[in-house]
Amino acid sequence: MSKTKHGEAIRVVVRCRPFSRREEIAECENILEIDGKLGQITIRNPKAPPDEPMKTFTFDSVYDRDSKQGDIYDDTVRPLVESVLQGFNGTIFAYGQTGTGKTYTMQGVSNDPERSGIIPNSFQHIFTQISRTQNQKYLVRASYLEIYQEEIRDLLCKDNNKKLELKENPEFGVYVKDLSSVVTKNATEIEHVMNIGNQSRSVGFTNMNERSSRSHAIFVVTVECSEEGADGEDHIRVGKLNMVDLAGSERQSKTGAKGERLKEAAKINLSLSALGNVISALVDGKSSHVPYRDSKLTRLLQDSLGGNAKTVMIATVGPSAKYHDESLTTLRYASRAK
Ligand code: ADP
Ligand code: MG
Repeated sequence: MSKTKHGEAIRVVVRCRPFSRREEIAECENILEIDGKLGQITIRNPKAPPDEPMKTFTFDSVYDRDSKQGDIYDDTVRPLVESVLQGFNGTIFAYGQTGTGKTYTMQGVSNDPERSGIIPNSFQHIFTQISRTQNQKYLVRASYLEIYQEEIRDLLCKDNNKKLELKENPEFGVYVKDLSSVVTKNATEIEHVMNIGNQSRSVGFTNMNERSSRSHAIFVVTVECSEEGADGEDHIRVGKLNMVDLAGSERQSKTGAKGERLKEAAKINLSLSALGNVISALVDGKSSHVPYRDSKLTRLLQDSLGGNAKTVMIATVGPSAKYHDESLTTLRYASRAK
């Protein structure tokens, strides 16, 4: 099996969102400089003395605030989805502080093709490619789950409070027992499935951001292709695409959380750092031990991280001085992954 090397199997990119209206009114200071050609981002500490050097990080790509959803899809995501259509696994993560554009990047704005995000764009891409093929038969299935407090819930099941178990067997590897898997025939159908899952995500929380900042949402598209080989037998290949809107990376323990909230914060921090450790072990290529077992998220994605799988990590940041510390932490996390 080929070892994962930087630039091939794992791509790490950064996206900066525009100033929000509120930030504009408050005349927030911009602390990020982006050189899209070099893939560099420079961050300035607004509290540092003027002679302190600024920090520059280099990534596979850096997208500034004018970047278009379609550009990110075409340069960063399309090749990964192509490989899923070829029968490989792939995973796309959006990582960053709450409010920096993870959901905008993954979902985008519905009913606005210019602003539709990676998940709906992948649906269009997959079904367009399928419609162009002639000698293959395809089966496309969707699942949508959430990991909250190290517990897995099915976002497509009516009883979405039921906790699902992670299981492992020699034939299927790691899988979620009883997870719904919906067969979809076209982009409209699978988009409908996504919308149902999104609705069930907001249940039980006073607002969407509260929940999404503390749970990981994973949309899984499985593409099965069967084709008659020269031997007259059907050959089946299966690719799996995982699209993950991660919990907010802000250090929740710093916000003065107590009791349940503090325990919750510890679990979020644990799973994001477990993910960072897995990716950095894969990028390093030398470590013989990849610590997949340290969190539900990494165990679940074990067969889609490393090996022949492709991974894209999109780290999102905001431009404002107010969030310097969180933005720096995000850039450091992302740069460990490359
Ligand atoms: P997160 O999911 O990381 O908490 P959101 O995706 O909800 O953040 O984004 C926060 C706000 O910023 C939303 O109102 C969103 O529409 C807006 N936003 C984020 N990224 C962009 C972008 N690249 N262009 C325009 N608006 C954006
Ligand atoms: Mg969000």
